Amino acid sequence: MKILLTGGAGFIGSNLVRFLIEDTDHEVLNLDKLTYAGNPISVEDISSSDRYEFVQGDICDPDLIKSLFDRFQPDAVMHLAAESHVDRSIDGPDAFIQTNIVGTFNLLHAARVYFDGLDDARKSSFRFHHISTDEVYGSLTMDDPGFSETTPYDPHSPYSASKASSDHLVRAWNDTYGLPVVITNCSNNYGPYQFPEKLIPVVILKAISGQSIPVYGKGENVRDWLYVTDHAKALYAVLTGGRVGETYNIGGNNERQNIELVRMVCGILDEMLPIADNPELDDETKTKLNEYADLITFVTDRPGHDLRYAIDASKIESELGWKPEEDFASGFRKTVRWYLDNRQWWEQILSGDYKLQRQGTL
Ligand code: NAD
Repeated sequence: MKILLTGGAGFIGSNLVRFLIEDTDHEVLNLDKLTYAGNPISVEDISSSDRYEFVQGDICDPDLIKSLFDRFQPDAVMHLAAESHVDRSIDGPDAFIQTNIVGTFNLLHAARVYFDGLDDARKSSFRFHHISTDEVYGSLTMDDPGFSETTPYDPHSPYSASKASSDHLVRAWNDTYGLPVVITNCSNNYGPYQFPEKLIPVVILKAISGQSIPVYGKGENVRDWLYVTDHAKALYAVLTGGRVGETYNIGGNNERQNIELVRMVCGILDEMLPIADNPELDDETKTKLNEYADLITFVTDRPGHDLRYAIDASKIESELGWKPEEDFASGFRKTVRWYLDNRQWWEQILSGDYKLQRQGTL
């Protein structure tokens, strides 16, 4: 297959591109605007493959999108490009409306025109795979069952509302124009190459530099955590085996309160980088700290903060045989190890050098 993949320089996209290049024979064209969240260094290790091409560009640019469909002649689209950070959507929703809604519309429009021109054989195998989030379903109480594919949409943040809008557009292009789509809604991902503004990298990087670790409210919010490579494998299973027009929920079956998770990550760090051996900490900090969890500081809660997300992933398991391979403890150990071993990756992000590098000025 030739896969036109959007957002492949981001967290999930880069892990998915790596999986597709290393574990399959498909060709990938990675279209990414390289916003603050996109970093080509995240896919540097596979970028010399002759089955991989990178194009820097915006999904909101209809001429570019049309030219890529015409030239690359994809068999599938995997659409991950998005503005993805809830806090940023509260501070500045405009980019979320543009990329997540208008950008998705542009892709759908171009895909439909391209699809209409395919012969019957290529039409029957073409897929438009839209990658979305469980946040479109809103919030659960502690006793509710997990979100299923028929849970009504009830988004609360500008981010989740924009993703919900894009999901509706994708369904409409299937119902109205017959574009063969599949949609996946996934729970919180964690793992290598996650931008250091999201909870897990924030905890790791604040802790190893001896800074306070901010936790919203009392840390009682519950999320269902999935290792990013398991997500990549689930996406591939849906792309290749999912039924057209269907939605598949993807989850890790790993519900944890934020505070429990933060304490666990701090505990792994206590073991992998004991405070006494941490070269970043001065002697005063070392004597004050008994464990990294001492750095936890509760901060004012995010407005409209959803209490709990949980996924019922029984459909993808029974129809496609997918199950997460990584368990909670092993996945988080791997993740902490990766951040400790890949300082260069996050240091150039924290210093802002990654932006200069991609402009060719470093
Ligand atoms: P990310 O923010 O790490 O990466 C997004 C990528 O999209 C970046 O490389 C960015 O440069 C690119 N991009 C943004 N605007 C663009 C535009 N206009 N044109 C082209 N490229 C653009 O996000 P992520 O965490 O990897 O999430 C990927 C997708 O998965 C998103 O659609 C998100 O909604 C969804 N998702 C994420 C999670 C999660 O836990 N991270 C969970 C479920 C679903």
